[in-house]
Amino acid sequence: MESPAGAPEGGAGAARKIIHIDMDAFFASIEQRDRPELRGRPVIVGGSPEHRGVVSTCSYEARAFGVHSAMPTRTAFRLCPEAVLLHPDIKKYKRISAVIRGIFHEYTDLVEPVSIDEAYLDVTVNKRGERSATRIAREIQREIFLKTRLTASAGVSCNKFLAKVASDLHKPAGLTVIRPEEAESFLDAMPVEKFHGIGRATAARLLAMNVRTGHDLRQLDRSTLAAHFGKVGEFYYRIVRGVDDRPVETGDEPKSVGKEITLSADSTDRRQLRIMVRTLSYKVARLLLGRGLLGRTVTVKLRFGDFHTVTRSQSLPEPVPDGGRLGEIALELAEKGGMYQHPIRLVGVTVSNFLTPEELNRPVQLEFDF
Ligand SMILES: [Mg+2]
Repeated sequence: MESPAGAPEGGAGAARKIIHIDMDAFFASIEQRDRPELRGRPVIVGGSPEHRGVVSTCSYEARAFGVHSAMPTRTAFRLCPEAVLLHPDIKKYKRISAVIRGIFHEYTDLVEPVSIDEAYLDVTVNKRGERSATRIAREIQREIFLKTRLTASAGVSCNKFLAKVASDLHKPAGLTVIRPEEAESFLDAMPVEKFHGIGRATAARLLAMNVRTGHDLRQLDRSTLAAHFGKVGEFYYRIVRGVDDRPVETGDEPKSVGKEITLSADSTDRRQLRIMVRTLSYKVARLLLGRGLLGRTVTVKLRFGDFHTVTRSQSLPEPVPDGGRLGEIALELAEKGGMYQHPIRLVGVTVSNFLTPEELNRPVQLEFDF
């Protein structure tokens, strides 16, 4: 168990040692930690059902009822009526995320944050001079628990894909090692929709080809995969064999987060356009939540049938609280931009001007200053 990346050196280059750390039910666990009365109870952190909210994270008690993230909150309550619903407290989660990130950097600066509660670490060479990635992963789990009283699951392997598969195998608080030579046996039984990078639509297409598991997927040759899925087919060919050369990429936080949609036909339909702006707003709000970002500037982009493009922005004193409010602001901006007057080809909603770490840590201001 001590030397996960035990592949022979040389050949395609020395084997890497990659760790994937994934916090267990992050938002819900934080709330249960801070509010003892919630421990042992099904907790949902997410948007309210009245505002078409979705589950962002839920506790393991809620998962036992079939509740999962990205599920509409309304559906979650149908499955688990006694669930406690909490609005996400991003500032708090972000502060804890920063503590955890600090722990990673005690071992390596090759850290790639995937979201507020998930990251890849390349510890092939590390600040501790520790040869065993497994030992590092265990130490990180221990330190996270000491500093935050929260559990993390860890996966250790020779690349990002396998490390992520590994961290998911024994949640919560698991530590799983996949050696390169074991990769295929781990992947054989795995349903294709659980492969990182295979979305629901692709899984459905694979199912139509009678491909359900990693074992099935491995029976398809390169050219078949390329014919059906183009360039990403090659990626599938490789990952199902446990091969993934993607580097762990450190990167700065984004300056903005946005989504846009191109209509299948230019439209002036008020109802259709409103639904589109609202849907985009919810999607953007979910991306922000996943990354722990709070932004104060909303920008709407409209492209008209004649390809003329306008943008309208508004900056608020406080960050946009949720997808519902974002949708309202975006609709006002879109109206000012002339959304209902001329045929629309494309709509975009973007949030920027994020709170800095210093602003996130600033104590809450009292309403009146004397
Ligand atoms: Mg997680």
